[in-house]
Amino acid sequence: MSAHHPDDLTLLDYAAGSLDLAQALAVSVHLGFCSQCQSQLRKLNALGGVLLAETKPASVGANDDQIAEGAQTEALDEGFEALMARIESEPEASPKQSPAPKTTGYHNPLERYLPASLDELNWQQQTREIAKFDLTNVVDLGSARVALQKIKAGAKVPVHTHRGNELTVVLKGGFSDELGVYHAGDYIARDSSHKHSPTALQNEDCVCLTVLDAPMKFTGPLMRWLNPLFAWRA
Ligand SMILES: [Zn+2]
Repeated sequence: MSAHHPDDLTLLDYAAGSLDLAQALAVSVHLGFCSQCQSQLRKLNALGGVLLAETKPASVGANDDQIAEGAQTEALDEGFEALMARIESEPEASPKQSPAPKTTGYHNPLERYLPASLDELNWQQQTREIAKFDLTNVVDLGSARVALQKIKAGAKVPVHTHRGNELTVVLKGGFSDELGVYHAGDYIARDSSHKHSPTALQNEDCVCLTVLDAPMKFTGPLMRWLNPLFAWRA
């Protein structure tokens, strides 16, 4: 079980289909490891169905009989924290109730693009201890820089900062930095204010998916509807 997860806003944006492609890839790789976020995503998908049914009368379909009338306008008033608290407290929708059940079949989406073994990749050696595989060579992920990084067991990456946001999902092994210790499946989001020097754990090589400069977008239909609640993020 992962200890580090995408925050609720990111999962909400993922559920709304409005994340940047590269960031969505990072979230879905994490989901493959994390039943807790899978469960949260199912709740958000159910909520998204509720909100869209209310905000787009033309699209109201067969699902709205499960929905208490007026719940959506209450949601507008109660603010994000309270809204999330309410989602947390709601029992998980059963598959037959959920408008978009994704209860099984979470596979690492990278498997589609990569050979069976990470060792078979055409790694580019950056230093003696650090290698990189540029994913943008095998899949179009927009403008973000997306790569796999491999750090030799016990090796330290020089202190670095970066412009914009950096997402990391640990695929194998683990690493530590000034803020914590991370293992396979962990999702770590950092912005340019973080200066860090990751060190791979001693027992095995660490392989991570990294996404640099992924823009944060809140443009999907659900997020347009919710944007007033997130004005502080703009
Ligand atoms: Zn998670």
